[in-house]
Amino acid sequence: MEIAKKRVSAVLTAPAPHMVGDGFRVHNFFPNGNRIKMSPFFLLDHNAKISFSARNEPRGMGVHPHRGFETVTIAYHGAIAHHDSAGNSGVIYPGDVQWMTAGAGILHKEYHEDAYSKKGGDFQMVQLWVNLPAKDKMSNPKYQGIRRQEIAQYALPDDSGTVDVIAGSYKDTNGSASTFTPINVFNVRLKKGRKASISLPENYNTGFLVIEGSIEINGVETARSNEFVHFENQGTEIEIEGLENSVILILSGEPIDEPIAQYGPFLMNTEQEIQQAISDYNRGKFGFLE
Ligand code: MN
Repeated sequence: MEIAKKRVSAVLTAPAPHMVGDGFRVHNFFPNGNRIKMSPFFLLDHNAKISFSARNEPRGMGVHPHRGFETVTIAYHGAIAHHDSAGNSGVIYPGDVQWMTAGAGILHKEYHEDAYSKKGGDFQMVQLWVNLPAKDKMSNPKYQGIRRQEIAQYALPDDSGTVDVIAGSYKDTNGSASTFTPINVFNVRLKKGRKASISLPENYNTGFLVIEGSIEINGVETARSNEFVHFENQGTEIEIEGLENSVILILSGEPIDEPIAQYGPFLMNTEQEIQQAISDYNRGKFGFLE
């Protein structure tokens, strides 16, 4: 039986960037940039590669709350530091991933790591907001700081490249992050002129961001850095070929079929839960962070 290709529904160019605080110049591919089916991924911000000038006082985003979902930060260039009200802190270096479950509520701040800030230079990162199902929205905050060397890596045949399995599984290689719903997040590093085939469930919402380089998809479409390729919920196989040495962030997950109510940093199911989140935040229930 022939295996059905997962067809491209759209290749999306980067929406105009905006600043998050003074430290992150991001292109929001969704939900504001495009209305596409990507649940359980609610938001994708890409700080495409730029160079920040050296500065003693690190740029960043001051203390702010989250409730009802997870923030996933993936660094490609530069270094991002983080502190939260649950007492967790860390630095995300290139290839590292921070998987933070805000759950019932957390305060955190995100900014350029001190040594990077003083030196300046290339900076590139992705932040995802991964929704939680209603039953897990009020779970305890959790923090997974995953170093690049801890991320399971699958070596593609013929020395074509590697698949960093951040979450989910690629062939028999299982991802390092624990997730609440079935999710695949991979960094595929593909050499110029080499191919890889990625198999993902038909019903999973799927897309990928080209981080670096350019690729051909299924022998028909092409996408280059800072473009997002969105797929139809049909077929299972995607074939990619590196037109240059390329890095691709693949996102694929089982949709969470529940109503969404969002207000700023809160992602819940109902308007009443949003009002509750605002009230709880105003009454200091998210903890304290300087
Ligand atoms: Mn945040």
